[in-house]
Amino acid sequence: MSSLRPAIVLVADRTLSGQYRALFEGIFGTMQTTSVPEFMMRRLLSPRQPTDESGRATAAVLGLRRVESALLAEGFARADVVCTTPETLPSLIGPWTKIVGFSSSDPLGLAMSNSTTVNFCGGRLYTELWTQRLLESLADAKRRHGFSIVAGGGGAWQLAQNPQRARQLGIDVIFEGFFERQGPALFLDILAGRTPPAHVVESQPLAALAKPIAGASAMGVIELSRGCGKGCEFCTSGHRAMEHLPPALILQDLRTNVAAGISAVVSGSEDFFRYGSTGSRVNFAALTGLLEQMRRVEGLSFMQIDHANISSVLQLGLGELREVRRLLSWGRASEYLWVNMGIESASTELVTRHCPGKFGPFAGRDWAGMVLESADLMQQAGFFPVYSLILGLPGETLTDIEQTQRLVDHLARTQAVIFPIFYEPIVPESRQQGAGFTLSKMRPEHLRLFQSCYEINFRLVPRLFADNQACAGVSWAKRTLVQMLGKSEVMLWRRRFGRIARQIAKS
Ligand code: SF4
Repeated sequence: MSSLRPAIVLVADRTLSGQYRALFEGIFGTMQTTSVPEFMMRRLLSPRQPTDESGRATAAVLGLRRVESALLAEGFARADVVCTTPETLPSLIGPWTKIVGFSSSDPLGLAMSNSTTVNFCGGRLYTELWTQRLLESLADAKRRHGFSIVAGGGGAWQLAQNPQRARQLGIDVIFEGFFERQGPALFLDILAGRTPPAHVVESQPLAALAKPIAGASAMGVIELSRGCGKGCEFCTSGHRAMEHLPPALILQDLRTNVAAGISAVVSGSEDFFRYGSTGSRVNFAALTGLLEQMRRVEGLSFMQIDHANISSVLQLGLGELREVRRLLSWGRASEYLWVNMGIESASTELVTRHCPGKFGPFAGRDWAGMVLESADLMQQAGFFPVYSLILGLPGETLTDIEQTQRLVDHLARTQAVIFPIFYEPIVPESRQQGAGFTLSKMRPEHLRLFQSCYEINFRLVPRLFADNQACAGVSWAKRTLVQMLGKSEVMLWRRRFGRIARQIAKS
């Protein structure tokens, strides 16, 4: 039992509360279904995050860290706000509890990339299953102690679109968007006994209101920018203009992570190369100025980039990209410094329709040509492109699929991996009309495209994974185990492809 009696306890779903040393570990840990045995999840893929003797998580998901720091800045006492883990949560709950803040990026398993996994692997997503278990485990304590549950995070839109399910899970308030402006007042209202609204929406990125984190962030995520504004209709950041956090705050967050023993960090941005920019134009001086300052923080090995845009890459010359690459390798050079970029489709027309801002300042250019140019530039500069495709975008034709296949065949001859995912709308009306892509809608050409991507990934992803883990200090034994598991996964995926091909042939 913890010695703390906090009024506010903050916790993320169990997949986000795992102890991941590298971004790849986090991605794999949060996309698994129950086709992977639970003991393997808990032991190997998503081991529990430790807590200190008072129940505070050693590292917590960045969104909860920002909630914590916003509350502390509002005057809440440190002892009254605790970021913890699902395992330690029960020991912190009691008559003193007023609010449990819960965060999840995919609480109902509706996120596009995760629903693709369900289609292929079957079972239930652990994000959804463990969310349900955690919230149900609170039901009895909630009845006895009368606290409120406020649910937010990247997947809050799923709860907002399914209010009945949210109520079944005991959620009192769904909070969509960034916390800093409306969140502290909401929490004060609840503490004062006032009835909160069932749904709060914050549409602005609020980067100027972000406060430095008070403890390490999970995977060492360092938030550089918020929002994106490229207008992709399937993305919650599509209509949120990009705003940047000031360098002083970023450096402070970086030092907090280093002090907690985290040496490999991850950039938190929808478009890394656009740091410091306004609109779609990159700002090389602002980006490299920040990286120069980050580089001076001692004790770091490298920073993994999560997302970037093809149109941002193409605004930089080879020399500039090489300079960024140089600035990103601190202690230990990473062989595969990968960057995730969305292709979506090779069709210029389809991408223009669904992602109007993706071309940035290159409107009117051929999209497939831009993709190939970005792959070439990135590789020459020492980055490793990790692309994503979307299958089944509304209006997709057979010609579009064939064009994307040709693009993938080109990319297969380069050093890049490609993750295809099934289209899943975020607009409730489209969901109700069944606009999402599923296995039952798959044509033979889709399957061929999907398989082509995965055959590339089977070859290259294990190398990326091992390299990232080694740079992040993951033990040799764990790396070997993960590689062995990866080999059996490859066999399973090939068998799945065979089964689906037979199903398509029969239908
Ligand atoms: S470019 Fe990426 S982050 Fe930006 S709106 Fe499109 S999908 Fe979202």
